[in-house]
Amino acid sequence: MTATGSELWAERLMGNYGIPPLTFVRGAGTELFDDAGHRYLDFLCGLAVTGLGHAHPRVAAAVAEQATTLIHVSNLFVTEPQLEVAERLDRLVRLGTDQDQPGRVLFQNSGAEANEAALKLVRKFHGRGRHGVLSAFRSFHGRTLGTLAATGQPEKHEPFQPLPEGFRHATWNDVAAFETALDPSVGAILLEPLQGEGGINPAEEGFLRDIRRLCDERGLLLILDEIQTGLGRTGAWFGFHHAGIRADVVTVAKALGNGIPIGAVWATKEVAAAFGPGDHGSTFAGQPVAAAAAREVLRVMEEIDAPRLARERGVELTGLLEMLPGISSVRGQGLLLGAELAPGVLAERTAPQVALACLAAGLVVNGITPTALRIAPPLTVSSAELVEGTEILGEVLAAGAAGEMA
Ligand SMILES: *Cc1c(COP(=O)(O)O)cnc(C)c1O
Repeated sequence: MTATGSELWAERLMGNYGIPPLTFVRGAGTELFDDAGHRYLDFLCGLAVTGLGHAHPRVAAAVAEQATTLIHVSNLFVTEPQLEVAERLDRLVRLGTDQDQPGRVLFQNSGAEANEAALKLVRKFHGRGRHGVLSAFRSFHGRTLGTLAATGQPEKHEPFQPLPEGFRHATWNDVAAFETALDPSVGAILLEPLQGEGGINPAEEGFLRDIRRLCDERGLLLILDEIQTGLGRTGAWFGFHHAGIRADVVTVAKALGNGIPIGAVWATKEVAAAFGPGDHGSTFAGQPVAAAAAREVLRVMEEIDAPRLARERGVELTGLLEMLPGISSVRGQGLLLGAELAPGVLAERTAPQVALACLAAGLVVNGITPTALRIAPPLTVSSAELVEGTEILGEVLAAGAAGEMA
């Protein structure tokens, strides 16, 4: 008998992801296929990454063409794909805000690296003694030592102490708590506009505006972590656009390359000026294949008006989910939704176990808290696929309520 992918994984890879349940070999749009040929609808997008769906023909062609043209020369030289990505990102970040001055972009390879670079940038901007960063409890900002320290989940800190100092946390959606947590050592507030990994926790009306005002009063920089929420996912180009505020620094990654690793930091020209030659760097960051993927992603997203698709399909999906008896409430924005499971469905189960039952039935979602599923289909998902996916979910939840879940 030949070993399964999961068995070989357990023998050969570290255990930090547990043992993944199955092996995917192919995808197209919203669909995924495993090594036995079974079809799945992907309502997770590799953690809000493949916003344009799997194997997008234009992104695939852009990657292939760049791979046969120029793959790498380092940032000691200009490479062309970066230039258009930076221009488009800058324009989209400032769209609908009162910021008419172009900012500057720094490329990275991932979300954590983008946040790490942003943390270094604000330290350099304010100088020593004002290096503190205040973020929210239940936030998620990455797994490097610095971004882990910024992440507001103390249980994730414990095994890795001591972490870099200067990080503190306040209660999400409580501006008074943020104000109380400030002292002169704090130079920046770092927030997701909608908490993703922490449970799909939206900002309450007015919270981001109050935080912006607090930053202006105290001379603090506001860093928006748009790694999960950015590039249309919430129904706006960036999550902070819903609040009608300005950003000093914005970080992006996940959807930027539609699966090819690339991250970026945007900052206002004044803040960006804090980095001079030699202050930061990364061998691969913004390398041509990744940047060519991002360039095509942004071109396609602008052509199809990705935020509008997320808004329209998001309304449809929310309506479909709210009709399922096994779901007690739906939260989130656009196509980044959290579905709270009804107690009768859960019984002795957790949401991650329900997500496994969905997988067995052909639907990819994940448990984002013990009681809620994260649902994040591609922005290109069709209305028919939303109906099909919620039907699968409905059947799984009905089986759960009847005590017959797989
Ligand atoms: C995923 C995520 C990160 C980390 O990105 P990686 O590419 O996994 O390092 C940081 N912040 C937020 C909000 C995220 O969702």
